[in-house]
Amino acid sequence: MKTIKDTNFKGKRVLVRVDFNVPFDKQGNISDDTRIMEAMPTINKLISDGARVILMAHLGRPKKGGFEPELTLKPVAEYLSKIIKQDVVFTQSLLGDEVTKLANALQDGQVMLLENIRFYPEETKGNEDFAKQLSLLGDAYVNDAFGAAHREHASTATLAKFFPNDKYFGLLMENEVKNLNKLMNNYEKPFTAVIGGSKISSKIGILESLIDIADNLVIGGGMRYTFYKALGHNVGNSLCEDDKIDTAKALMQKAKDKGVKLYLPEDSIVADDFSENANTKYVPTMDIPDGWEGMDIGEKSIKTYCDVVLSSKTILWNGPMGVFEMKKFANGTFAIAKAVADATQKGAFSAIGGGDSVSAIKESGYADKVSYISTGGGAMLEFLEGKVLPGIKAIEE
Ligand code: AMP
Repeated sequence: MKTIKDTNFKGKRVLVRVDFNVPFDKQGNISDDTRIMEAMPTINKLISDGARVILMAHLGRPKKGGFEPELTLKPVAEYLSKIIKQDVVFTQSLLGDEVTKLANALQDGQVMLLENIRFYPEETKGNEDFAKQLSLLGDAYVNDAFGAAHREHASTATLAKFFPNDKYFGLLMENEVKNLNKLMNNYEKPFTAVIGGSKISSKIGILESLIDIADNLVIGGGMRYTFYKALGHNVGNSLCEDDKIDTAKALMQKAKDKGVKLYLPEDSIVADDFSENANTKYVPTMDIPDGWEGMDIGEKSIKTYCDVVLSSKTILWNGPMGVFEMKKFANGTFAIAKAVADATQKGAFSAIGGGDSVSAIKESGYADKVSYISTGGGAMLEFLEGKVLPGIKAIEE
């Protein structure tokens, strides 16, 4: 794996694709700087080498094919300036004489951030001419944007072509690739995958590929009702994808054929409305009464699930067990968070991915007690589905 660790970039103009797709509050302030902070090891390493760092990033999903004031990266440049204690040079465009001049005028250890790369429609099309123009700004290319590694865009994949001998993984990417490879190819058994979240349709690929490697597949979240229905149970008003009932049946059959233990919650906390103020009750079976909807897994399921997690050597967790954003329905998710942390303390390797499970582990206070938290939701899912990620392939080939 060619990473920036083994090279000194002194005096080189290094084009670095980072993931700065951060959320903003109503006042226009960055409300969560996690993504910026996660790119800091790579940025700091390049600064301390004396590289001339040119950062490329996107923000949101611009639609107009040009500048959109609410999606400018300018506030990110200002924020970054404070973190690295130097003025980050910010460019309003990506191509042209002005940018070239600014890039060429950078001093060793200086940092420049290019405006939102998705203001150029060529970016998401992976356009070669656009990538070639960008490549002229740098002497080397580094991809550190794992969150965008499943995209075949100009700055995440095409650009690598123009640096056949000078393309590298950033430190964040390196960490992701190493951990995900360990998880999928070099794991200790028993391997338990805890999969939750709202819909089975978005998790079919990962469930299919996990059945090939996991010993235990523990199912929670809204997607479990499609399984319940497939088993002939009443699901009341619970989230259920009727067009995926056959898929659920096929997954259960595949698990059975492969000797994978598939766990479904045996009890539930249900509500008469999808709201924090709803009336709730405990239902000790898989049958959800009419007029009620399942919101969290029940006590018996929590106990069974935590026992399975605690007896595992490798754990993957993706997706909450219930509607954890509402305090009343967060018990199952937080119990799993604790079990994953406890299993890790006992020596298990644990990986957590997917926006909501990452928020849940952070909220639970156990984030620093697990082995690894992935920064890429979609990218991690695609990796776990066995797909080749363009952003990784472009550096490796
Ligand atoms: P996903 O993005 O597919 O991982 O889904 C995450 C979302 O699933 C979270 O916002 C949860 O609130 C939601 N979720 C979890 N359990 C349930 C449930 N029983 N009913 C409806 N939504 C749920």
